[in-house]
Amino acid sequence: MFHLTFLGTGATVPSAERGVSALLVEQEARRFLVDCGEGTLRQIRAAHLGLRRLDRILFTHGHLDHILGLASLAGTLDLWGQGHRLCLHGGADALKTARILLDQVVWPHGHPGLAVDYVPLAPGCIQQQDGLRLSAFPVRHHDTDSFGFLFEEEPHRPLDPERMEALGITEGGQRQKLARGDSIRLPDGRRLDRDSVLGPPEPGARLAVIGDCESVSSLTEVVRGVDLLVIEATYRSADADLARQRGHLTIADATTLAREAGVRQLVLTHQSDRYDPDAVLAEARSLFPPVRIARDFDRIEVRAGA
Ligand SMILES: [Zn+2]
Ligand SMILES: [Zn+2]
Repeated sequence: MFHLTFLGTGATVPSAERGVSALLVEQEARRFLVDCGEGTLRQIRAAHLGLRRLDRILFTHGHLDHILGLASLAGTLDLWGQGHRLCLHGGADALKTARILLDQVVWPHGHPGLAVDYVPLAPGCIQQQDGLRLSAFPVRHHDTDSFGFLFEEEPHRPLDPERMEALGITEGGQRQKLARGDSIRLPDGRRLDRDSVLGPPEPGARLAVIGDCESVSSLTEVVRGVDLLVIEATYRSADADLARQRGHLTIADATTLAREAGVRQLVLTHQSDRYDPDAVLAEARSLFPPVRIARDFDRIEVRAGA
């Protein structure tokens, strides 16, 4: 299961209601910040999320409304001694901007206590460990080297409480041992291992996050069947010409992708304050009912098949 917290849902410029792009994705103890627009530190603090374990930022691309907040966030992580390492994943443009911000603006006089890793993105797996696979895929947006991200939990087999009950394993300590993978001894002397009390396999949740984007034509197979897709929809469908000129999507572009890819739920972000939010929601729902328009501080749980 993933927990999403939308920290900035506005397009290009912060407004009274919306910060610019930032999304926190949490899975068990892991935290990934996707983009870090101006004011992200303030949004994290306003949402009472804390800075612990905030050690990995994935940049969709290097436009300033997605990266400018890195300066104050990294500076504060260092100042407060929160963590020792910050890992930045991005295309070449995003990493170049990140280096300028950190080396020339935040820490022009030397190395901080916080070590920063700059990890160039390429299509494919970024990491696979402890039941989670994270991968990147290319996204078209102006002439940037932009990426989207796919978070996939591996299928798993949880302990079956009825099976344990039937075997008389009621004590919490014994159940914890089995959960850790240790074997236990039953009162009649038999030894029992974890595999004997596992329930049927359960699928893991799948989440796709796409930032700014000008064409969805290559994305259908990449996001096929995900439990939740987060994607920009900066323009209403009547403004398709403007969307093309500016390298962004309309509501119809995003909902068409979701429908054709069999996405279960859709969240539209990177919202322009030129529109009435009720009209945006009504238009999106008429095209793809399981949709919501992200607002700052929205929290969403993503479960497999939910
Ligand atoms: Zn943007
Ligand atoms: Zn952009």
